[in-house]
Amino acid sequence: MTNINLPILPNEKNVIGILGGGQLGKLIALSASKAGYKTHLYCPKGDNPAEIVVDKVTNGEWNDFEKLVQFSENVACATSEFENIPSKTLELLSNNTTIIPSSIVFRCAQIRSKEKEMALKSGFNTPKWFLIKNTDDLITASQSLGNRGILKTNSFGYDGKGQFRINSDTNLFEIWEKLGAVECVLEELLDFKREISIMYFKSADNTDGFFPLSENFHQDGILKRTVAPAILNETVKQDLRLKTKELSKNLDFYGILAIELFELVDGSIFFNEMAPRPHNSFHWTIDGCDNSQFDILVRSICGLPVKDVSSNGKWEMTNIIGDDVNNLIGLYNDQSYLLNLYGKKNNKPGRKMGHYNKQII
Ligand code: ADP
Ligand code: MG
Repeated sequence: MTNINLPILPNEKNVIGILGGGQLGKLIALSASKAGYKTHLYCPKGDNPAEIVVDKVTNGEWNDFEKLVQFSENVACATSEFENIPSKTLELLSNNTTIIPSSIVFRCAQIRSKEKEMALKSGFNTPKWFLIKNTDDLITASQSLGNRGILKTNSFGYDGKGQFRINSDTNLFEIWEKLGAVECVLEELLDFKREISIMYFKSADNTDGFFPLSENFHQDGILKRTVAPAILNETVKQDLRLKTKELSKNLDFYGILAIELFELVDGSIFFNEMAPRPHNSFHWTIDGCDNSQFDILVRSICGLPVKDVSSNGKWEMTNIIGDDVNNLIGLYNDQSYLLNLYGKKNNKPGRKMGHYNKQII
């Protein structure tokens, strides 16, 4: 990356742009503000917890090109908390400002088949998978997986949405319709020992580093709990780091990148998916590290030097999902639970309303 104006230091002119008004946007803005930067949020109208902590808000759709151009003329750099941001939007913004990560990175992460191809190219294993464009593809692929797999829409899935497990009793035509008759991938269902995630970051000044690994526990496809740092054999860890850096090189990546992984009983590691943005499984870094994933993202987009981050002890992060938010009295009564509520106005089942961190060692 060649930007002669680096580093971007906090001053009246150097406003950081944030795309997307969810909890990740809110936490990016808080880190930016702590570091002395002004922030400008762009997001569609809605229940946007980030709006209350930024200096300026523009409410607009992702295809409101006039508003987007105006926004891009007023920020020194911008990043997206929203994974499904249209690449056209990012390309337009990048005419006037530095966008980190790039539209190419987001496009890759938005399409499961593309990210799997990229992972394979970078040396990762992936579960066996097939691109599914119609029910004929689905029937053939299902047979070659012994009628046991997990069908996922190729785009727009999150928190376990847009996916179904299939077995020999599944009516494939029904499932296909249920997922909206859209392009999908059918994956082999892995009997993993545990789920872990890795986070890599690279600053616009070309320095880089890793956070310690996280170990993740899901319920109904949604992350419930993370314990970190996860312990992993040193050789396996170094190999994982090499592959992650290779993937980042292949994408000319800047920013922060989370990769979700499966570890099998035999110790082999499989790529599941990646997210080029702050990731829920690294929320423990807010309290468990000197620099959180949000602090490091701000440093990275502004071209400040970064290096490996270590943890201060062992941490557990628990998500507050849906109605959990109405039952927090036990947490309020014990100050060792470091509570972080996002301030969303509307609660519904499966919605991430907040999380809490607790040091366990
Ligand atoms: P999302 O985008 O919704 O997070 P994921 O692909 O990460 O979708 O799937 C959500 C969860 O479903 C994973 O964290 C894992 O627990 C389970 N899962 C996904 N793919 C597989 C697979 N191939 N084998 C076994 N479990 C899987
Ligand atoms: Mg996932």
